[in-house]
Amino acid sequence: MSEPGEIRKLDEVVVNRIAAGEVIQRPANALKELLENSLDAKSTNIFVNLKNGGMKLLQIQDNGTGIRKEDLPIVCERFTTSKLSKFEDLTTISTFGFRGEALASISHVAHLTIVTKTSNNQCAFKAQYVDGQLKGPIKPCASNQGTQITVEDLFYNVPMRSKVLKSPTEEFVKIANVVGKYAIHNPSVGFVLKRQGETVSDIKTNANSSYVDNIRAIYGDSIAKEVFEIEHEDDILKFKMHGFITNVNYSTKKQVFILFINNRLVDSTALKKAVEQEYSIHLPSGGHPFVYLSLTLDPKNVDVNVHPTKHEVHFLHEDEIIESARKAVEAKLLGANRSRVFYTQV
Ligand code: ADP
Ligand code: MG
Repeated sequence: MSEPGEIRKLDEVVVNRIAAGEVIQRPANALKELLENSLDAKSTNIFVNLKNGGMKLLQIQDNGTGIRKEDLPIVCERFTTSKLSKFEDLTTISTFGFRGEALASISHVAHLTIVTKTSNNQCAFKAQYVDGQLKGPIKPCASNQGTQITVEDLFYNVPMRSKVLKSPTEEFVKIANVVGKYAIHNPSVGFVLKRQGETVSDIKTNANSSYVDNIRAIYGDSIAKEVFEIEHEDDILKFKMHGFITNVNYSTKKQVFILFINNRLVDSTALKKAVEQEYSIHLPSGGHPFVYLSLTLDPKNVDVNVHPTKHEVHFLHEDEIIESARKAVEAKLLGANRSRVFYTQV
């Protein structure tokens, strides 16, 4: 019979690296966290620069509040955040991140550099991190207000992870998908996505553009021409819905369903199904709509304390809320359908 193995406590760096690998699974996850940080910092312009689908270089520059120099030594440690101080804050929190885990995780699986300037400082400061800790001194440098985060050689120390990643092209497509959706949801913020060495940017939206401008910029004119705005408020269930959805004249093989709940890009299979079913009454078989919906739920009804990689969300009164949303879509589509019939009869 073989002997039992000796039980030992894992080295902290190993523990953190395993945890980091769970939060950051691919470049697009890392970028989503960084984008949310830039939006939390009230940025109005966000510039993303990539090399090799973000695996070699993932850089994001914003013009937000910046990070205080005093905070730079601990900003990449696990569970350090400026957004949450007590557990109860979770029920009212409106910012995206709250776990203080994103930067820490990234620093455990990549080389991370922060250059940041607040409005109170004369100059910017540059800091480099390894495994959650500062590497070398914080150095003054020149830069505009805001924060630039540079992530290099993602998964350099997790060879298994880099092996399962798809090609740079596929990672790029996933990143572009995330940037495009955040751009549509945040028309007041200008987004640029560019690949290093290319002269033309892949995504460009202007600060203070409209939702439809951004839908056109990202999904094309054929969709932008056919969308209409939907707005719905339910006082009993305490939620609001706003979005842009295509009318029944439009149908495509490749469906686009963009859902934000309380400003976080998420998936809800149940809601998607309900909306799809509504459209299936009107669209030719195999045809799909373009749907962008933003739901604002009472923070008390959504459990935001889910793992950052859990995109599928569940919320309180889910069935009723989905039914209420479906009815709003139904009313909109029927209204649009009627006007179409009217036009064709004239
Ligand atoms: P969380 O967002 O959950 O607080 P993060 O690890 O993503 O955790 O970020 C840690 C902290 O670093 C944030 O609370 C914020 O204070 C600061 N920070 C990160 N990115 C930015 C940014 N782009 N601009 C300003 N502050 C930032
Ligand atoms: Mg965050």
